[in-house]
Amino acid sequence: MGKEAVLRGGVSRRDFMKTCVAATAIMGLPYSMHTKVAEAAQKAGRPPVIWLHFQECTGCSESLLRSGHPDVSELILDMISLDYHETLMVGSGHQAEQSLHDSMKANHGKYILVVEGGIPTKDNGIYCKVGGKTAVDSLTTAAEGAAAIITIGTCASYGGIQSAPPNPTGAVGVRDLIKNKPIVNIPGCPPNPYNFLSTVLYYLTFNKLPELDALGRPKFAYGRKIHEHCERRPHFDAGRFATAYGDKTHAEGYCLYKLGCKGPATFANCSVTRFNDVGVWPVSVGHPCIGCTEPDILFKKPIAEKLQIHLPTPPDTYAPAELGQKGPGVSPAATGLVGLAGGVALGAGAMLAKKLPSGEEGHEKHD
Ligand code: SF4
Repeated sequence: MGKEAVLRGGVSRRDFMKTCVAATAIMGLPYSMHTKVAEAAQKAGRPPVIWLHFQECTGCSESLLRSGHPDVSELILDMISLDYHETLMVGSGHQAEQSLHDSMKANHGKYILVVEGGIPTKDNGIYCKVGGKTAVDSLTTAAEGAAAIITIGTCASYGGIQSAPPNPTGAVGVRDLIKNKPIVNIPGCPPNPYNFLSTVLYYLTFNKLPELDALGRPKFAYGRKIHEHCERRPHFDAGRFATAYGDKTHAEGYCLYKLGCKGPATFANCSVTRFNDVGVWPVSVGHPCIGCTEPDILFKKPIAEKLQIHLPTPPDTYAPAELGQKGPGVSPAATGLVGLAGGVALGAGAMLAKKLPSGEEGHEKHD
């Protein structure tokens, strides 16, 4: 990277600034704040971080480490001093345990504790042990000296798949056990690395944790439902639903509500922030949202089960939209305009709408 490299990991200044702009936008801050965020990221004294793993698949760490351009993981690892991370550290056994002990002692009251994975509580917590200590013991000991705790992933936030009924190990999330520390939940299976990065940057920039919702999630990332910004939303509004994987309605990109999409009840920014640096997320590639940021949905409701929502299809008074019937088709934006036109007509008391063609795939009214 030569002269361009600004951080130890070799991230170029251009990529660094791009990432700061993206993180600033995710935090809901004005564009002009990105310089302050970048300044804080560069000047921060690399706060010590202890990262514990319990009942989980390490997918959250993987998701973070596999992020591409710009390399979010390198930025994060540069901004913090990662003193202990069981799957990344070189040391093992007693050496690793000593490093955990030393870091907790040297940084008592100052380190950030990151937790990945659920914590089993049944039978005195014997179902997850590291270094001879139960997850409950490791967590409570590490939490005692932490300045704040960040849970990464749905398992650490709410218990995750381990806590699915009948929850044989009595798995819970960190907030169920630790009551006397500030805790930020970053749920998701896995969560978007940018949400973790933005939380760390917010802390470094403002020296405090971001505003949280009732489930302990940063409002800047989990304040809106996926459904509000989904690219398939015009299809939902027009009553066009995919009815089977791989059929014409699915290939046309229709709304996935009838395949079990949990987007209308899921608070997260996936439809805006997206994943893998190539602008994809599950719904964009044809899979319904599984509600992985919601404690009452993921692993509690079957993927194919339809959400009970008030009005899954629009009223008959909406103007029709004949997508894909002739010529090049109608874009989602055009569909939105048609809906808007219908709304205006409705406001004027005119009943311009006609019913959608009967029997056409994906156009039937919801039961
Ligand atoms: Fe998108 Fe799912 Fe909402 Fe349909 S139900 S608009 S696919 S989030």
